[in-house]
Amino acid sequence: MGGMEHSPAHEPSEPHPEHSRRRFLIAAGSGVVVTAAGMLLATLPEGRDETPPPVDPDNPRGLTEYEPVYERAVKGLEAPLGFEDCAHPTVRSTRDTAGSDHHAVTPIIDRFVIHHTGTTAEQLNFLSRCNKRSSAPTFYLRHDGSVIELIRPGAKPSSTGADWNWRSLAVETLDATGAPDYTVTDAQLEELAQMIAWLATFDGRTLDGVPVSFTIDRDHVISHRETWSGTECPGPYLQSRLDDIVARARVIFAAR
Ligand SMILES: [Zn+2]
Repeated sequence: MGGMEHSPAHEPSEPHPEHSRRRFLIAAGSGVVVTAAGMLLATLPEGRDETPPPVDPDNPRGLTEYEPVYERAVKGLEAPLGFEDCAHPTVRSTRDTAGSDHHAVTPIIDRFVIHHTGTTAEQLNFLSRCNKRSSAPTFYLRHDGSVIELIRPGAKPSSTGADWNWRSLAVETLDATGAPDYTVTDAQLEELAQMIAWLATFDGRTLDGVPVSFTIDRDHVISHRETWSGTECPGPYLQSRLDDIVARARVIFAAR
């Protein structure tokens, strides 16, 4: 998580967003007529209006989906980048500016930055919207090792701070336990290594339109804490496993 992006679990959720409800009503195919503004014109069958809308756990907010660039990802979601301007959440931030002063840079991907969520509670709903903490990682990694690609790898994530987002891919790893260790599962450690090995195959080429300069070592694979001492992210456990993750990624890469 980013410095201004912590504690997503404390973000109040919106349990019944109007658009999700409307999608359900249409999908239900029960003759219900809904206007573009979402106003219900027909009366629902008895009790139907108390039924919660079905939610796809891999796309809880009904975002537009695309074939993920990372082939091991479950799916790609067109998540809105979470910048301050939530009124225009479809405007992507580009990789050609960096820093709080927005100075010009030549886009490159040369860092893989590991984060943790800081909570064990499912975060995909939070990360699927223009959230107040402006958190938009490239990948969201769950306990079973499944990955959701939240923004395209070519797009600039909003995870690690203005000096690092422009040059990095970022992964948010859902914690398996809370404080103080913030452990993650073996499946997550393995998937982190898989992601890193995959990124290394693009070294010297482009990934999703962005030049890549990336070798599998601890200069290129870093944690959030290593970019900014003001955060404990990704927690003591994951931090202690970074060398192991890199070693495993090298093995995977060599076998490709
Ligand atoms: Zn972080």
